[in-house]
Amino acid sequence: MQLLDGKKTAAEIKIEVAEEIKRLKSNGGKIPHLVAVLVGNNGASITYVDAKIAACKLVGMKSTIVRLNDTVTEKELLKKVDELNKDKDVDGFIVQLPLPKHINEKKVTEAIRPTKDVDGFHPSNIGKMMLNLPTFLPATPFGILQLIERYNIETNGKHCVVIGRSSIVGSPIANLMSRNSYPGNCTVTLTHSRTVNLAEITKTADILIVALGKPHFIKPEMVKDGVVIFDVGITRIADKSKKSGYKLYGDVDFEAVKDKASFITPVPGGVGPMTIVSLLKNTLLAAKDK
Ligand code: NAD
Repeated sequence: MQLLDGKKTAAEIKIEVAEEIKRLKSNGGKIPHLVAVLVGNNGASITYVDAKIAACKLVGMKSTIVRLNDTVTEKELLKKVDELNKDKDVDGFIVQLPLPKHINEKKVTEAIRPTKDVDGFHPSNIGKMMLNLPTFLPATPFGILQLIERYNIETNGKHCVVIGRSSIVGSPIANLMSRNSYPGNCTVTLTHSRTVNLAEITKTADILIVALGKPHFIKPEMVKDGVVIFDVGITRIADKSKKSGYKLYGDVDFEAVKDKASFITPVPGGVGPMTIVSLLKNTLLAAKDK
């Protein structure tokens, strides 16, 4: 078993991004600027946004958090999005999901100008991705592709099984793995909560990408020897022995499954850090494309 070390790979990519930012600066260019809009006090969202901002600082990227109360109206949030769309100093921005129930996430996502949509969630960018045109790829799938590349994982002709069909992870990664390029050229099976005999399908996977949000769902009897596993799931479970008060669980029972896998991502330290560097790469791209 070889660990797909997202933490280490992300650290290497951060150095590359930092060097590019230095180059931009020394050529008289503008320092890329990422804005994160955070609505309310969701603990996980605060942690994610803080990690994104810390990563920006580390690579010398300008970053700003816009914090809004969870009583903010949809109209007020859309006004903020409009301001950020028009602000010439802002290269890219994200609105951290989930949003409070009274706000329509689709409406907000669609209001973000596609050239600043560094999360890659806008329908226009998703459409470009489907057509294999240059665009911002959604950060988590982009992170998985970079891990595949950096670890030289063969994808050509492989059977890739994806669990979960969310529009931010499962659906886009299923599309990307089937593209006629590297990483890609897989035969892809996209599974979800209505899939019948899931274990029969996962047992045939050469590459298994798991994004359903159920701790330790994947057990050894569900995979074949030599499988490559990307565990996207992150679930926080209260744990008094931890300083943070919780422990993070992936969707794969790592300890039980790891010896059957040829490559596997841990949780934490696998796909999570790769998602953050992908956001940095998208922001750099947004700044350069201006
Ligand atoms: P989601 O929560 O929107 O949807 C879950 C998906 O899992 C659905 O498509 C559903 O059909 C499927 N599903 C549920 N139960 C199933 C079952 N028994 N069998 C097969 N499929 C089943 O998905 P999401 O937003 O992609 O999040 C999934 C997990 O990934 C969560 O734990 C989330 O926290 C995590 N996540 C991690 C990152 C990261 O950077 N590592 C990024 C995004 C999401």
